[in-house]
Amino acid sequence: MDDKNARILVIEDEDDVRESYLDMFEFFGYEVDSAPNGREGIVKVTNSDYDIVLTDLNMPEMDGIEVLKIIKKNKPYIEVIVITGYATLENAIKAMKIGAYDYFTKPIDLEHVKIVLAKCVQSIKARKENEELKGINKKLTELNELKDKFITITNHELRTPLTVLKGYLDLIDMFLPENSDKDLVEALDISKETMREMVTIIEHLHDLSFFDYGKKNYSKTEFLLTELLQTIFNEMKVLFKSRNINFNFSLEGAPVKILGDQERLKRSLRELLQNALKFTSENGEVNLIYAANNNGKNVFVKIVDSGIGIPSDKQELIFEPFYEVQNSIHHTTSKSDFMGGGIGLGLTLAKQVIESHDGQIIVESEPQKGSIFTVVLPCRNSVRN
Ligand code: ADP
Repeated sequence: MDDKNARILVIEDEDDVRESYLDMFEFFGYEVDSAPNGREGIVKVTNSDYDIVLTDLNMPEMDGIEVLKIIKKNKPYIEVIVITGYATLENAIKAMKIGAYDYFTKPIDLEHVKIVLAKCVQSIKARKENEELKGINKKLTELNELKDKFITITNHELRTPLTVLKGYLDLIDMFLPENSDKDLVEALDISKETMREMVTIIEHLHDLSFFDYGKKNYSKTEFLLTELLQTIFNEMKVLFKSRNINFNFSLEGAPVKILGDQERLKRSLRELLQNALKFTSENGEVNLIYAANNNGKNVFVKIVDSGIGIPSDKQELIFEPFYEVQNSIHHTTSKSDFMGGGIGLGLTLAKQVIESHDGQIIVESEPQKGSIFTVVLPCRNSVRN
């Protein structure tokens, strides 16, 4: 509805007055209809749609207050403006109390009418837009619930066959004779590695649904972050070596204790390093830096890579579930390959974990130059528990 096609119904028993209103509103550009009394007005309102009804208050048969009550009961979204003489101003006030948008006093002032109608049309438009937004919001909420349900079901349904498969692979591994065919051993190793990747995906899906339902079951302990980083470094350096990437770990500042869920923090930091590995080409460089400043409040873990970088307009989006900057259809499945596979959940989960430790992840990046992911965590002595 724009200002021009707002539909107005005029209910007025005096013919010449009614005609003059019609001319006036048509002149203002509205689509106008009329009724000579309240009863006929109500029939028209019932059978047709109007945005605004202008009704005289003083009419035989059915007065304007009655008209207003019926409209507000049956079609509350129609705005009603009442017209009254000065002598019956208290009726206009009564009308306002039961839901009239405004009132005009006779003889009506053209300029005033024009302004009030325009305001009324604006408020109808705003209300309609609001209702539309509410509808869209409801749909989005439903879709989101559906997504959560899908993730939870998928996660649950995949777990069982995967457990069976893993059991049999372990069994084969256990009973494979020492002098087995090299190709057979290799095939088993590939199967086991692929299985591990699938387990990671399932774990990610599980963590996502777990978080979405707000069940944060952390087991927090006090530990030295430097020790955790050293473990991660030791575990992952072989992956960087196999891709010919120079991987370094350095300490800037004294080791401090933090309070947190070691397992979850480890997984989050590994995700960031796994990304640094994935998005850095052969012969590149990745630095894992621990930094503690002297104020004793926060510790910083920086993961600096010389990889492909992230365009600035995508730097917030990468934390959204399932978001990937590159077209995921073309990537390889191995998580360690250059531009290798993933499902776009690593950063979402890492961010959730870090934030629920009262920390944050900051990303700085430049395409073709590299990225810096900084994890900020509070030190033990500044943690409230
Ligand atoms: P995944 O790595 O499984 O695709 P993530 O949530 O870990 O999912 O990352 C989302 C996306 O952010 C990645 O697909 C990639 O496009 C981008 N990204 C993350 N880390 C880096 C990085 N170090 N360098 C370049 N792009 C990155």
